[in-house]
Amino acid sequence: QTHVPSDLEIARQAKPKPIEEVATSLGIPAQALFHYGPHMAKVLATPPAPRGKLILVTAMTPTPAGEGKTTVAIGLTEALGKLGKKVAVALREPSLGPVFGIKGGATGGGYAQVLPMEEINLHFTGDFHAITSAVNLLSAMVDNHLHQGNALGLDVRRIEVKRALDMNDRALRQVIVGLGGPGQGVPREAGFEITVASEVMAIMSLADSLSDLQERLGRIRVGYNQAGQPVYARDLGAEGAMTVLLKQAFYPNLVQTLEHQPAFVHMGPFGNIAHGTNSVVATRMALGYADYVVTEAGFGSDLGAEKYINLVCRRAGFAPQAVVLVATMRALRFHGGQDEYTQPNPEAVRQGLPNLAKHIENVRLWGYPPVLAFNRFPSDTPQELELVRAFAEEQGVRVSFSEVHARGGAGGTELAQMVLEALENPGQPRFTYGLEQPLEEKIARIAQQVYGAAKVEYTQEARKALKRLEKEGCSQMPVIIAKAAASLSDNPRLRGRPEGFSVTVTDLKPKCGAGFVVAYMGEIMTMPGLPKEPAAIRIGLDEEGQIRGLF
Ligand code: ADP
Ligand code: MG
Repeated sequence: QTHVPSDLEIARQAKPKPIEEVATSLGIPAQALFHYGPHMAKVLATPPAPRGKLILVTAMTPTPAGEGKTTVAIGLTEALGKLGKKVAVALREPSLGPVFGIKGGATGGGYAQVLPMEEINLHFTGDFHAITSAVNLLSAMVDNHLHQGNALGLDVRRIEVKRALDMNDRALRQVIVGLGGPGQGVPREAGFEITVASEVMAIMSLADSLSDLQERLGRIRVGYNQAGQPVYARDLGAEGAMTVLLKQAFYPNLVQTLEHQPAFVHMGPFGNIAHGTNSVVATRMALGYADYVVTEAGFGSDLGAEKYINLVCRRAGFAPQAVVLVATMRALRFHGGQDEYTQPNPEAVRQGLPNLAKHIENVRLWGYPPVLAFNRFPSDTPQELELVRAFAEEQGVRVSFSEVHARGGAGGTELAQMVLEALENPGQPRFTYGLEQPLEEKIARIAQQVYGAAKVEYTQEARKALKRLEKEGCSQMPVIIAKAAASLSDNPRLRGRPEGFSVTVTDLKPKCGAGFVVAYMGEIMTMPGLPKEPAAIRIGLDEEGQIRGLF
């Protein structure tokens, strides 16, 4: 048995280039870099107008382990680089929550990774710390306002903004602040969310410029006053100081793949209660300098790609010209009803294929002929692979059995060729709904067309919220649906391609700064907890002071 090196071992053996070499290979002047050591930098340049071709990587409904979108996005970038193309990848920054919670990084895997992986997965260039600080400044100003006499008449029972921490810590979901008597502030129920779930994170990834950022921060709804009118961050005068805290973090970070292609890794909003993609400014920068830009949207096409097309692209004014759909044998087995999805099982694979078929349909609905990137694992059997090949042929989609995890760019050249071929007839986005449509209709369209639901129901609570939103003038906003990632429906137990089901909207909340309405289909955690055996137990330093156990 040969030793299969871990992601950390592979990353550590790699010889990254000085970051200014990576930057100049794209035409970014070295003076535009603000360095964080030899291999990471922020790019302070104003990029040329976008000219690159954008390639979106999405996936079938994932298992909890993830199906390899990040890995394939990086591998495809390496492969396009191998073919001599001027290419860059644009990805999200990892959160510390998953790093110490359930094992799983966000810098790719095997020979398709971005470097330096230890730094990127830990503190990186400090962006998330800056966001945490800005979020907490706003909360500190809210509680101070209450303490100093509450001139705005804030209703302490209806304050919506929370504090943030980039850690999975369920004990902080609901807390009482201000205990200890009149000198310690005003007691009230408060709470924390993980930094990536904060509205400030969503705003940072959608804002166009520092002035747009400040304007949006001012629009964050803090809560209500006693007369029932909304109170905003600008009423507290918080947006200027928040922008100052975020200024440096707003510049895109530049790093590199294992094969030295440029990688813009910037911002990381949740794919659930937010839109789950890297920042608009980083993608725009990549599109300004590179001929090809590969990017990733979180979870399956129903969550990530839907929001990417209907919200991010519509707002940012760029759009993919080709879409890559990632599938794995483990996800097919899982959707075919097999829990032990690492064990070969052709029958389960066959039964799982309808899930993939729905995602193919979705990508086509948005205006793209998908390129299927089948992400190969060592446990895939020839019989199972043949089923997938025959299925792709029947569906009329191009499929490449990618080996970027095992072989880097060399394992993805066929996929890269297929993507280049697809780009010869570039797709054009077709939106699922119009912004002028009422919220209810937007939600119905997404549920019926993208999830395959028969019907949308509303709880009484949700009905009330809907009325309130209409009254507050939020009807023209795009919708972010927060629902289970493990199913096309809102019920994580419904695997495969469920039909005839209804989904239930349980609540709606406006994110006025980010500029969207979140429609909840069930309880969605904005502060995760650690599992029984968190990854943190295995992480430490060895005798030489090297990190061990970090993937
Ligand atoms: P996603 O972006 O879809 O969530 P990732 O690319 O982060 O998925 O991959 C999830 C995990 O699976 C990572 O730990 C990665 O190293 C691993 N992985 C991805 N592809 C493969 C593969 N082909 N073989 C083995 N492990 C893989
Ligand atoms: Mg990913």
